[in-house]
Amino acid sequence: MIYLDHNATTPIHPKVLEAMLPFLGAFYGNPSSLYRHGRLVRSAIDTARSQVANLINVQPTQIIFTSGGTEANNLALQSIPPLGKLAISAIEHPSVSQPAAHLQQKGHDLTIIEVDNNGLVTQAAIDKAIAEKPDFVSIMLANNETGVIQDVARYAEQFNALGTTVHTDAVQALGKIPVDFEQLGVQLMSLSSHKIYGPKGCGALVFAKGTTITPMLRGGSQEQDYRAGTENVAAIVGFGKAAELACAELVARTEHLTNLTTLLESALLGIPGLSIFAQHAQRLPNTVQFGIDGMDGEMLLMKLDQKSIAVSSGSACASGGNTPSPVLLAMGVEANLAKSAIRISLGLNNTEAELLEFITVLKSLVNPAY
Ligand code: PLP
Repeated sequence: MIYLDHNATTPIHPKVLEAMLPFLGAFYGNPSSLYRHGRLVRSAIDTARSQVANLINVQPTQIIFTSGGTEANNLALQSIPPLGKLAISAIEHPSVSQPAAHLQQKGHDLTIIEVDNNGLVTQAAIDKAIAEKPDFVSIMLANNETGVIQDVARYAEQFNALGTTVHTDAVQALGKIPVDFEQLGVQLMSLSSHKIYGPKGCGALVFAKGTTITPMLRGGSQEQDYRAGTENVAAIVGFGKAAELACAELVARTEHLTNLTTLLESALLGIPGLSIFAQHAQRLPNTVQFGIDGMDGEMLLMKLDQKSIAVSSGSACASGGNTPSPVLLAMGVEANLAKSAIRISLGLNNTEAELLEFITVLKSLVNPAY
């Protein structure tokens, strides 16, 4: 199989698996137990916390391990004060936009920060949101579909001046571009393990000291009382190892992905009727989303699958229905072109040969005369 869907999930890195295995076997102690068998497991969690902290330039005590990016986003939004005002960008992942819609139903004021044709939030949209004086704002660092990177640091500074709590969903940015919590100037940030060659079902909410966080899960003192429940030890250990590897290999990974993406984009642009979304915006080094006039994205995805090539027709979490991607619609992409969207997200193990094969197959599907 040629796997070109790393924004949906990544394979577990062999070194991550190796680090996890003892914690699915001999080291089964409860990290809250006081005897040695428990303490040993607690210290493995402490190591993982430091490894994740190191990747994003925070203290280990600023990390709350969660069951993934979805929980981290929900936990962040849960911390909005009663009837507090909320603002989110128009292109957030459903794990931000749906809890936000739920809060709106419960009476919170919700402002949507619109984006331009390149998928970038505009200063005008930020100014409009600022005029509403929100208590909480969420702007993602990199979009899962288009890969577009937002200037979160710039907007965080403006919202911080109002005393607004700023959250960023950095799930897709992590491990692909440098992510420095302090430099971003946000108060809350969400991460996920399985997008960086770690296991699924693990992530983190990172917080600045002094930020109010309202727990969703109560009934235990784990994670500084912010997230009760016995820790998913093996997954946390794996997340830590994945973070350590991402930190050590970031430059090399970026170079590899950028080279592949450059090759892919130039080949794609040779296909008549094909346009790359947000082509001229700053994007993740691994993500290319495109549309082809007159094609159906879901259909193309299925045909590529028959040829053992795995791609996404938009966001993996949103696929399954034939409705155009809300992200593309928010960018002003015409509905039919949005329905033709295919997302390619490259990973560490992809090769030039795989991309050339993909291009050959794609061309034959788009126009059998090729
Ligand atoms: N945020 C973004 C931008 C994502 O792309 C995803 C997953 O696709 C999530 C959050 C959810 O993360 P998880 O799968 O760990 O719950």
